[in-house]
Amino acid sequence: MRCSSCDAPAIVDQPYRGGHACERHFAASVEERVRVEFHRQLPRFGGGTIAVALSGGKDSAVALALSHRYFQRRPTVRLVALSVDEGISGYRAATLEAAGALAERLGVEHRIVRSEERLGTTTDRAAAELSGTVPCSFCGVWRRQLLNRAAREAGADAIVLGFNLDDLAQTVLMNLVRGDLDRLVRMAPHRVRQAGLVPRVAPLAQVPEREVFLYARLKSLPFDHAECPHAHRASRNLFREIVWQLEEELPGTRQSLLRTHDRLVERWLRSEETAAPTRCRGCGEPAAGPLCRACEYLRVLREPAPAEGAP
Ligand code: SF4
Ligand SMILES: [Zn+2]
Ligand SMILES: [Zn+2]
Repeated sequence: MRCSSCDAPAIVDQPYRGGHACERHFAASVEERVRVEFHRQLPRFGGGTIAVALSGGKDSAVALALSHRYFQRRPTVRLVALSVDEGISGYRAATLEAAGALAERLGVEHRIVRSEERLGTTTDRAAAELSGTVPCSFCGVWRRQLLNRAAREAGADAIVLGFNLDDLAQTVLMNLVRGDLDRLVRMAPHRVRQAGLVPRVAPLAQVPEREVFLYARLKSLPFDHAECPHAHRASRNLFREIVWQLEEELPGTRQSLLRTHDRLVERWLRSEETAAPTRCRGCGEPAAGPLCRACEYLRVLREPAPAEGAP
């Protein structure tokens, strides 16, 4: 198989683009898609601080490396990498090590925020105490909040997330299936600014997951392959399968889902008043009700269990 742009051997098949790419054209195409997304999602960004959420996995490794590449010629932009240690044994330590190695290689400041210190609990402990709840539900909510706070503390104007095309297509489908228009409109990349929330950008939005992996390998970026021990319980797994099947049968489905999202947001912004954000009574972070979802989960954890034999 030859590259569709030159005579070199192809290393990747891109059915959604109707072609193949060699190593050089593949890397250039990823970098160009990321450049376009930065330009689109951060219009008129002259300078300031950009926080990059760095988990130590392939997606955030590529997001940090390409953020560094995009901003390195701008002395007015400061990058800071933020990692959250949720307290997941047998998993997080290795990913944090990979995250530290990449930040050091690129010369980017790296801060680690720990759930134990900030929330007084860990994902592992909460998973044991709330055994009937899928851990990703509270873990994801807590991580988003910790990242937001850490980004604010770092003086960040935006948070870069490593969401790739597959992740975003799955999230669009999940929110559509659940009928959760509010979350659909507010998902990253942010079009709707919310008080107290550092806007999130997703520069890998047009890069499929396997191309992110390939790019990370080609550039020898340090990242950890391990999967979280709680991941098998995530409802996202079903949507991953469905999006894969759709993409196999109908190449371009993932991009279509993102376009659907874009159009819905456009129409929503033109026709609807977005609900005024309120502040959580517990922690002061943005919330849809009196308590934010992070505090709701903490409240459930702290509630004393009913006495045995109680009705
Ligand atoms: S897979 Fe779920 S539990 Fe594990 S880190 Fe991600 S959100 Fe947390
Ligand atoms: Zn080529
Ligand atoms: Zn709260």
